[in-house]
Amino acid sequence: MNNEESKNEVISRDFIRTIIDEDLKEGKNSGKVHTRFPPEPNGYLHIGHAKSILLNYGISQEYGGKFNLRFDDTNPEKEETEYVDSIMEDVKWLGVDWEDRLFFASDYFDQLYAWAINLIEKGLAYVCDLNPAEMREYRGIPTEPGKLSPFRSRSVKENLELFEKMKNGEFPDGAKTLRAMIDMTSPNMNLRDPALYRIKRAHHHRTGDKWCIYPMYDFAHGQSDSIECITHSICTLEFENHRPLYNWFIEHIDNMPSKPRQIEFARLNLDYTVMSKRKLLQLVQENHVNGWDDPRMPTISGLRRRGYTSLSLKNFVEKTGVAKRNGITEVTLLEDSIRKDLNSHAQRVMGVVNPVKVIITNYPEDLVEELEAVNNPEDETMGKRKVPFSKELYIEKEDFQEVPHKKFHRLSPGKEVRLRYAYIVMCTGLVKDDNGEIAEIHCEYDPETKSGLSNSGKKVKGTIHWVSAKHAIDAEVRLYDRLFIDSDPSGNKEKELSELLNPKSLEVLENCKLEPFLKNAKSGDKFQFERRGYFNVDLDSTEDNLIFNRTVSLKDSWAKFNKK
Ligand code: ATP
Ligand code: MG
Repeated sequence: MNNEESKNEVISRDFIRTIIDEDLKEGKNSGKVHTRFPPEPNGYLHIGHAKSILLNYGISQEYGGKFNLRFDDTNPEKEETEYVDSIMEDVKWLGVDWEDRLFFASDYFDQLYAWAINLIEKGLAYVCDLNPAEMREYRGIPTEPGKLSPFRSRSVKENLELFEKMKNGEFPDGAKTLRAMIDMTSPNMNLRDPALYRIKRAHHHRTGDKWCIYPMYDFAHGQSDSIECITHSICTLEFENHRPLYNWFIEHIDNMPSKPRQIEFARLNLDYTVMSKRKLLQLVQENHVNGWDDPRMPTISGLRRRGYTSLSLKNFVEKTGVAKRNGITEVTLLEDSIRKDLNSHAQRVMGVVNPVKVIITNYPEDLVEELEAVNNPEDETMGKRKVPFSKELYIEKEDFQEVPHKKFHRLSPGKEVRLRYAYIVMCTGLVKDDNGEIAEIHCEYDPETKSGLSNSGKKVKGTIHWVSAKHAIDAEVRLYDRLFIDSDPSGNKEKELSELLNPKSLEVLENCKLEPFLKNAKSGDKFQFERRGYFNVDLDSTEDNLIFNRTVSLKDSWAKFNKK
């Protein structure tokens, strides 16, 4: 084991793996480890889900166990096939293989119905006519006992008949619920006779109109794990006080297939980011973003479109560790993970996003030199490429200052700069348009200073990138910034989400000039534009209309900005 691996080994010995080690040592579950990821198909997956997926799958792989993908689809009103499809695509993209173990809680509806009857027969469930407001009132508050529902004393026979009628559609939506009979005085509100079934005439994405009653999430989730013989039901902390309820079902329903062990860990939260699906849906529905896969979204599809690789997400979630207490992770850690990944393998190119024309007045009119450029200084095997150089070039507007700041070491009148892979040039003049904007910068080059030659020994402080004008390819470049200006948008109780948005989260630059190497760039291709950051070819990009998303700048410019 090399150093890097042994470090990972230490990092990955978190409390969940410690529990599993102990279970195995005690011979529980006949030495098996079986985990799952149980999303509700009511939105696209986000980076927090990626953490849960990679944790569950990672554990199954490490212990030679199995991993299931199961949709907990108990709420037909909010669930859609579109979400099911996107979730499968995202899970696969993360490199996770559920083999033939794709399941749906809705496949267990018959079994769950039978188990509800089992509880009624044992006098442990009853049909209740309280409406939601009354139910809340009867339930009470955690510090005081609740009141018994007046329907709690119905006979088993009556409950069986009523439940059957509920199923057969003999009552209107919401008129009755089936409730477990547990303990109306419990300090754990989840045990105060929770609802098991509700009447809801809604079309289900898989079962169609077969059912007009649906099990509550809590009545389906734990039992689904049991049906699938999940050994370790790993979930986030908000389910900690649901655990007694899940265990109650497992203990009181006859012949449950298995007893999974639930373990809770802290969910991933990121600063400057919202992670709840409800809020992400709101951003989509109110058109604050262009869909679930907008590159500013923390969704897996958004991050993928932005240019994140699955490896970078994996490295990131590993770094965040597995904790027992909720905290907030800095989004800069996520950005560092993609920088690190792309630094090692992204092709370097030159691209000018804010172009201004440069004319090298002493360069021969029709000469084109093919200059040699390094494809990736971190990886020699990626080799070199040719970049055309000619009399007319583009450079970045910001690399020129007519009246330079004291510490400005790039191009300005009378000053010299090196053009990357090419020559040292000196600015000799300017042409302005009618609006006073700089239209052309005139320069003279020094033929003795060609890159790679043992040159005249001339040294300059700045090196800038450029693109030959007649060879340049046009492209649109989209620069992104944080979607929110508040570091904790979910925690801000004074303002609406929409008031916390960063108005400058997207900047579209339509007249970018790129080196010809990028002509055949395809959606998903990743590059480093020298000095400008890492870029990903957008999903909507075509040969005639190239679109690049900036994944991340080269350095953490935000940190610098905050210090100002
Ligand atoms: P949200 O709260 O964002 O609306 P959810 O947690 O209800 O979503 P589910 O589809 O129920 O979404 O999530 C599936 C699994 O992903 C659950 O086991 C849940 O614990 C886990 N999960 C959800 N969000 C996070 C997160 N931020 N970090 C880690 N795991 C998460
Ligand atoms: Mg949930």
